[in-house]
Amino acid sequence: MYTQLIDSHGRHIIKLRISVTDRCNFRCVYCMPEEDMAFLPKPEILTFEEIERLARIFVGLGIQKIRLTGGEPLVRRDLPRLVDQLSGIPGLRDLSMTTNGIGLVELAHPLRKAGLDRLNVSLDSLNPEKFMQLTRRDMLQKVLDGLQVAFDAGFSPIRINVVAMRGFTDDELVDFAQFARQHPYRIRFIEFMPLDADHNWEDSKYLPGKEILERIDTVYPLEIVEPKGAPEPATRYRFKDGLGEIGIIPTVSEPFCDSCNRIRLIADGHLRTCLFATRETDLKTPLRNGANDDELRRLIREAVHNKEQGHMINQVGFIRPNRSMSQIGG
Ligand code: SAM
Ligand code: SF4
Repeated sequence: MYTQLIDSHGRHIIKLRISVTDRCNFRCVYCMPEEDMAFLPKPEILTFEEIERLARIFVGLGIQKIRLTGGEPLVRRDLPRLVDQLSGIPGLRDLSMTTNGIGLVELAHPLRKAGLDRLNVSLDSLNPEKFMQLTRRDMLQKVLDGLQVAFDAGFSPIRINVVAMRGFTDDELVDFAQFARQHPYRIRFIEFMPLDADHNWEDSKYLPGKEILERIDTVYPLEIVEPKGAPEPATRYRFKDGLGEIGIIPTVSEPFCDSCNRIRLIADGHLRTCLFATRETDLKTPLRNGANDDELRRLIREAVHNKEQGHMINQVGFIRPNRSMSQIGG
C-alpha cells in the first residue's frame, strides 16, 4: 500500500468517479444541448483495459469507492465486462454507477452479476410530459420499469437523483416525497449547477435545499439522519413516521468543498480534481506512451496535491469550466 492521497488542504481523497463515455441517449436541458453536441472521437476514449489499469493504481493509493458515470454509462457497449474487471480489484470497497435508467431493463441483472454494488438513477419528474420536456425523450415509463428490474435484481436501496430547478421541480416536491415513502428508493435533491452546455444557468434558477426541506417537512415531517463514517455531500432526512428518507445536496447554496473527498477521471483520460476545475492532468498520453505505474502515481499525487480549495459559484471571479456536465461525468 502506498501513502494515501491527501491534498494541500488536508482532505483525504477516497472516492473516484470514472466517466466511461461522453455520449448519451437523453438530452437533458440542464446538461446537454438539443443538437450539435460534439463528442470525443472513439480513439480518444480510454479502453476498458486502460480504465482498469488506472483504477488499480488509484485503489493502491487509497481510493475506496468508484462510481461509473458519463454521459450515459449504459450506452458504452459491454459495460458489464468493465464492471466485472473493476469489481475484482483487491481493496476496492464499493463500486457504483449513476445512470439515467433507460438501459436498466436489459442490463440491471448482468450488472449485478458482474459485481456492481449500488445504483443511482436520475429522474427529475414523475409527470410524463414534464419528463419529456426535460430529457427531450418520451421515456418515463421505461425508466420506472428499469427501477423495478433493478430492485428485483437486488439493488437496494436505490438512490434517485433529482436536479432541483425553480419553476420546474417546485410543484413535484411532495410527489417525490410520496414516491420515496411508497418505494424502496431514496430520493436526493441536487441543486442545479452552472454546468449546462446551453449556459442557461442563473442564480434564480436553482431551488435551494433549505426551501426543498421546508416544503416537504410541512406535509411530511422530517428529522435529520446523523452522519456516520466519511463525509457525504448529501444531508439525509428520514420521515418521522419511519416511512423512507430523502437527501439534499446543496452544492450551490451551502458548498461542502471543505470536506470534498472525490476526484474524477474523464472518459478521455484526464484527471479533474474538482467539478469546477479549470485545469486537468492528462493521464492517457503518458499511459499510452508506456509510463510505468510509479510515473502515473506521481502525476496523480501531484494533481491531488493541487486540488482546488472550492468552487466559487455566485462569487466574483467564478470561471465556468469549459466542459459541461456530460463531458466531465457528474
Ligand atoms: N447520464 C447519467 C445520469 O443522468 O444519471 C450519468 C451522468 S449525469 C451527467 C450525472 C448526474 O449529473 C445526473 O444525476 C444529472 O442529473 C446530474 N446533472 C447533470 N447536469 C447537471 C447540472 N447542471 N446541475 C446539477 N446536476 C446535473
Ligand atoms: Fe445524459 Fe445524464 Fe446529461 Fe441527462 S444528465 S443528458 S442523461 S448525461
